[in-house]
Amino acid sequence: MSNSSSASLAVTGQPIVEMEKVSKWYGDFQVLRDIDLQVARGERIVICGPSGSGKSTLIRCLNRLETHQQGRIAIDGMELTDDLRQVDRVRRDVGMVFQHFNLFPHLTVLENLTLGPIWVLKQPRAEAEATAMKYLTRVRIPEQAHKFPGQLSGGQQQRVAIARSLCMAPKVMLFDEPTSALDPEMVKEVLDVMVGLAEEGGMTMLCVTHEMAFARQVADRVIFMDAGQIVEQNDPESFFASPQHPRTQQFLAQIL
Ligand code: ADP
Ligand code: MG
Repeated sequence: MSNSSSASLAVTGQPIVEMEKVSKWYGDFQVLRDIDLQVARGERIVICGPSGSGKSTLIRCLNRLETHQQGRIAIDGMELTDDLRQVDRVRRDVGMVFQHFNLFPHLTVLENLTLGPIWVLKQPRAEAEATAMKYLTRVRIPEQAHKFPGQLSGGQQQRVAIARSLCMAPKVMLFDEPTSALDPEMVKEVLDVMVGLAEEGGMTMLCVTHEMAFARQVADRVIFMDAGQIVEQNDPESFFASPQHPRTQQFLAQIL
């Protein structure tokens, strides 16, 4: 844990995300090194750091898209193991929005949103469709419900992807550079939706992004990763005003 984290960051109550001394290797290459991270219920975290520092790997370990080899990860008290039934449960509890949307191209927007609720959560179709329309309205594209993803702009597709995650009523939402594949004019519409979600409160969010205005606006905590380690973390104001570690300073100098 970074020496710059202050007492105000102390997590109270049982953390919804717990990582203790988590390490992971791809072959001989150690991608995560002794990661200690506790996330409180409702906390909003932004993770930044240079390309290749392990940000995607870290959050993918939280929904078991990747497996760790050492240490402990628990989501809402449930430790992540190789038990397959448990993998289903953790995928339900932990929603993920990817850089490249990952929508099903042969299904309509509405079908993309109702697939998980109907087949995984066993919701009646009418209920799943009502929930889907609620979230499509919230991401401001209810009129796109019967189109196919390929007929939508990138920004609209990403908003569908966010709505799709929300339809599963996850306990934690992970975002992996959700705006970095978008044309510049579409970044704002997606960030606006994410800001709305964050400001509504209640949802635990971990977001890998280099959108530092977003971090300043909504993050409770900004985490800087380098070479598989959490190098520094702090509240956004302190993080940007007085980064402690030379690697953080260098990184911020490049992107701000
Ligand atoms: P970031 O998201 O910070 O850019 P990643 O977690 O994607 O970092 O990757 C960290 C490092 O691990 C990179 O050097 C990357 O090349 C390597 N890596 C990522 N995925 C794999 C994989 N499936 N197999 C081998 N190496 C990988
Ligand atoms: Mg990445």
